[in-house]
Amino acid sequence: MTQQNEDLNLNELIGQMTLDEKIAQLIQLAVPFYEGAQESGLITGPMASLGIDEATVHNSGSVLGMAGAQEVINVQRTHLGHNRHGIPLLMMADIVHGFKTIFPVPLAIGCSWDLELAERSAEIAAKEASVSGVHVTYAPMVDLVRDPRWGRVVESTGEDPYLNAEFGRAFVRGFQGEDLASDKDRVAACVKHFAAYGAAEAGRDYNTVDLSDRQMREFYLPAYKAALDEGCEMVMTSFNTIDGIPATGNAKLMRKLLREEWGFDGILISDWGAVKELIAHGIAADESEAALKAIKAGVDIEMMTSCYVKHLSELVEQGEVDEALIDEAVLRILTLKKKLGLFDNPYRAADPEREREIVFCDAHRRTARELAVKSAVLLKNEGTLPLGREGNIALIGPFATSGDVLGPWSWTGSKEEAVKLADGVRSKLAGSSAKLLVAEGCDIETATAAQWQAALAAAQAADTVVLALGEHSDMSGEAGCRADIRLPEIQLELIRQIKSLGKPITIVLFNGRPLDLHGVIEEADAILEAWYPGSEAGNAVADLLFGDANPSGRLTMSFPYSVGQVPVYYNAYNTGRPQGAPDAQVRYVSQYLDIPNEPLLPFGFGLGYSEFEYGTARLSSELMTADKPIEVTVTVRNKGSVEGTETVQLYVRDLSGEVVRPVKELKAFRKVSLQPGESREISFALEEKQLRYYHSDLTHASDAGDFIAYVGSSSKTNEALPFRLAK
Ligand code: BGC
Repeated sequence: MTQQNEDLNLNELIGQMTLDEKIAQLIQLAVPFYEGAQESGLITGPMASLGIDEATVHNSGSVLGMAGAQEVINVQRTHLGHNRHGIPLLMMADIVHGFKTIFPVPLAIGCSWDLELAERSAEIAAKEASVSGVHVTYAPMVDLVRDPRWGRVVESTGEDPYLNAEFGRAFVRGFQGEDLASDKDRVAACVKHFAAYGAAEAGRDYNTVDLSDRQMREFYLPAYKAALDEGCEMVMTSFNTIDGIPATGNAKLMRKLLREEWGFDGILISDWGAVKELIAHGIAADESEAALKAIKAGVDIEMMTSCYVKHLSELVEQGEVDEALIDEAVLRILTLKKKLGLFDNPYRAADPEREREIVFCDAHRRTARELAVKSAVLLKNEGTLPLGREGNIALIGPFATSGDVLGPWSWTGSKEEAVKLADGVRSKLAGSSAKLLVAEGCDIETATAAQWQAALAAAQAADTVVLALGEHSDMSGEAGCRADIRLPEIQLELIRQIKSLGKPITIVLFNGRPLDLHGVIEEADAILEAWYPGSEAGNAVADLLFGDANPSGRLTMSFPYSVGQVPVYYNAYNTGRPQGAPDAQVRYVSQYLDIPNEPLLPFGFGLGYSEFEYGTARLSSELMTADKPIEVTVTVRNKGSVEGTETVQLYVRDLSGEVVRPVKELKAFRKVSLQPGESREISFALEEKQLRYYHSDLTHASDAGDFIAYVGSSSKTNEALPFRLAK
């Protein structure tokens, strides 16, 4: 940081600003609303539809969705030419899982259980975004998710609070680095969506959330808190209500919990239009009341609506809003600008020449490929995988040649430049005797007769068939909810018809949520869940299909048996009744009459090309005390014939709590790579503080008594290790 920036007294600066200038800092302008900015460098245009005058535009604080070094430089330069205080704009954008180099979607990254690589992906995203002029990313999204109907599960790392918190931290470290001020290759992170957006009723986006305070604290809040503990600079509100109050107007959530209890003093931004939505929700009569409720609840920046700029000044004049509230919000915004060094160098890392060198470079793409390989989960394998490089291989399905492999929130990436599966497979087969036959068969939801015939002909001629199926990327993500989470019917029909030819079938899935796999799992000999793997999709999937890499991903969200079970998740509570089974001839137990209680594929599950054998696990002691942790030790052996990576998972159950405890809770995990025949002893220290939970009075404490530790390869592991926590 140079002298000028360091010496800048922000309170003095705020003292020199008029009330209107201060309020203008609280608005965020968005690119689609001022097309023309690119050419003229001026932020004007249809912002007029929001009733904003030019003075407000010239004093505005931040911009959403602008990236590209030269464009950002132009806009910033013009802006500064109009701003009498020389206050630069903050450039914010959704850089969620990569900038130009697109990494797998976050749900997939979760399935890698690889925190280091997740961090590295965020670091690369930050570097590419920063050189392209971005200062803040709207990530990580750490909403806990349990309902695969909700399209935004694709943006989360899954259903476990501990794992989500660890990933939240890793992403923040990757985006922000150690020191945002000196490290210009980093961007500020904004954790979202605060809070509990993932608990939308019935999995419909924006829908009501109603959770007890205890549920919130136990499951939903830990990941936001972890991101903030890691130094995350910003927080974004969520669209949903919580206990009847929309998050964006919720003082209990933001003033009391976030600011007072957690001590967060960074910027709180509303989600898109969420301030004005307080009217539609029915807690504000008009824009003025919406502004009043949002500023009082603690929202500093209003994204994409103009309630603040239109009404805050009259609210101050009428004595409804204390000007100190506005000063506080402005101070937070200016503080981040100062921290990023923008008063000295408003362009920060934006540099068109360096942008050309760094963005989408080979080194970044190698990391994207590695992460895509580690994120895929092998769901079934009756021996067809890995494929040999011989005979006729038919690659059929809408994702054989599609570039729609980046997934939602990849607006800065290029589908054209993404490696298609057919290309990845082709490069694997170069020089071999194998012949590749490629046919689409159908689009995502429809087929032409010609597509269909060509696919059947290819399958007929093949020794083995790979079907590349899935959801269009708009079928998940924001407002991408589905009530029927099976593959579209045309793709199920394609599976059936090809199956009738009697060829071995491997299915590769490209999708953004756990699917209902009926019609897929029974028919396929092997299933690889690739998710949306990103820019290196085709290469990464081909690495796995041909055994150049060994699948190691593990599910972080349960795959339901059918949608009727949803929400179904591993860390649930027991009922007072036995868990039934469909064939049980008893009534009045906790069961469905037509389907099992268990999900089809549980949290933590995943196969590979090697098999791991667990020895008998043991505890260092059956008695834990507050200052004496116990050790859980198990030996894991690779009994397969290729090197492989196992994710050893440690779960705990509290047998008798003050409130009901989950049947299992993930407490730790370790990834271990083993050569064929190699074994390794893995130890976890388990201490009292890992047994704490929120009691009915919201204190966070452990209870003396009986527990069970479980260690194994998924949440289904049943090897029970009883221990006691002493008083
Ligand atoms: C989404 C946010 C996103 C914002 C800005 C909203 O619609 O909910 O996740 O960061 O738009 O693009």
